[in-house]
Amino acid sequence: MPQIRKLPAIDGQLGWFETSPSRHAAIGQRLRGHHHFHYAVVGAGFTGVALARRLAELHPQARIALVDALEVGQGASGRNAGFIIDVPHNVDGGEADVESNRKLHTLNLFAIERLRSLKDRHGIDCAWQDAGKYMAAHEARHMDALERFAQGLKRAGFDYELVEGAALSRRLGTAYYQAAVYTPGNVLVNPASLVRGLAASLPESVTLFTGSPVTACHDGPPHVLEFAGGTVRADKLVLTVGSFSETFGKVRNRLATVFTYASLSEPLTPDEMGLFDDVAPWGTTSAHPAGTTVRYTPDQRLFVRNTFHYRPALLASDADLRQAMHQHRLSFEARFPALATKPFAHTWGGMISVTRNHHSIFRQEAEGVYSVVGCNGVGVAKGTYLGHYMAEFMAGMQSPALDFILANSQPNWIPPDPFKRIGAAMRMRKELAGAGGEI
Ligand SMILES: Cc1cc2nc3c(=O)[nH]c(=O)nc-3n(C[C@H](O)[C@H](O)[C@H](O)COP(=O)(O)OP(=O)(O)OC[C@H]3O[C@@H](n4cnc5c(N)ncnc54)[C@H](O)[C@@H]3O)c2cc1C
Repeated sequence: MPQIRKLPAIDGQLGWFETSPSRHAAIGQRLRGHHHFHYAVVGAGFTGVALARRLAELHPQARIALVDALEVGQGASGRNAGFIIDVPHNVDGGEADVESNRKLHTLNLFAIERLRSLKDRHGIDCAWQDAGKYMAAHEARHMDALERFAQGLKRAGFDYELVEGAALSRRLGTAYYQAAVYTPGNVLVNPASLVRGLAASLPESVTLFTGSPVTACHDGPPHVLEFAGGTVRADKLVLTVGSFSETFGKVRNRLATVFTYASLSEPLTPDEMGLFDDVAPWGTTSAHPAGTTVRYTPDQRLFVRNTFHYRPALLASDADLRQAMHQHRLSFEARFPALATKPFAHTWGGMISVTRNHHSIFRQEAEGVYSVVGCNGVGVAKGTYLGHYMAEFMAGMQSPALDFILANSQPNWIPPDPFKRIGAAMRMRKELAGAGGEI
């Protein structure tokens, strides 16, 4: 296997990480020297952390390594919008039937309850809010999408509420949206704080190496990971490296990775808080797939996410970040005109790994080598349950949940570059053109 040349970078100022109460805690150690483990998991995002924990539960005698190129909470798992979503995202897509949607919902609830109990047991301070989620529309032409979403929820028997006009403005502190579908089971968090707390509370049999990029990976067994400071040999190896999966040479022609960007403001001043009298923390996603995600956080900051770029180098440039911040400003000022002078304190980019049919990659690649990737933008819940069940799959366990996951892990073929780049550019142009005021 050649050297791994594309390594994770920080891509801006990571707002959730920088504002996390655990920001200065030392979690993990640099890899130095030569080590042997029964299991090595590469990637300490939500997927890898859930996987390492479940491996430790199933094999209490095993020695497990969990490694990451960055600090925990600096990867996509700590850069996202912090929605832990219970209802399937494509409930309106017409692709999935009611039974599949219910099974997905059960898996998402399993992930939420597992995260909740770990958060409670280990006292993880991650601004956990059982706030629900609004899917909101600004323009009349996007009401159909809300209607389809509501119909899908109704068919599957999921709770929801349609909130419109003045009632919606009162709940959000902005009159920007005409209507929204509110689903109560969603949780909002500071995702960097949550994933850091989960990693810091792993069982003792898991050794966490952070700031330790894998620079080469040789198939075994034993499988050998190379680092600048040493090596790890492992009997079994699992890759949970998200958008970096292709750099390990295992996952080909199944994933498209796209950058999207977020900004977080400073906390509102007491004067600015006047706009949000009696408003509880909230999060909105958009009725349009290319629309803007917005949050009002428990520490009174405003969060904005939008803009997509296809960047095969797996890095966001300063120009990309500037362009995204400019769009964030426009979206922010449209929603909160009275706060036009409020600056953003942090702007960053992060990657989403998507597949064409929304299936994940969850499979054995070779003897003792496994991959989990392709969370399609909902990886806090999905990564948590896929990581958990991958440990059970590796142990030869069987269950209806595993059968369902395996049946939904058949991602369609995606052509290599330059066709992938051209396809991604065309798709993004089309989506952006249709999104209008939802951005
Ligand atoms: C801006 C944004 C908003 C989002 N909003 C949401 C949301 O609200 N809710 C939601 O559920 N999902 C959201 N997502 C998606 C979510 O973040 C991902 O689905 C999730 O992080 C996937 O978790 P993971 O553990 O599989 O991968 P990742 O979090 O990508 O973790 C992979 C890890 O592998 C490490 N790695 C890669 N290469 C190497 C190497 N060579 N050596 C060592 N380590 C390596 C990386 O450093 C990284 O930490 C969003 C994503 C972005 C970017």
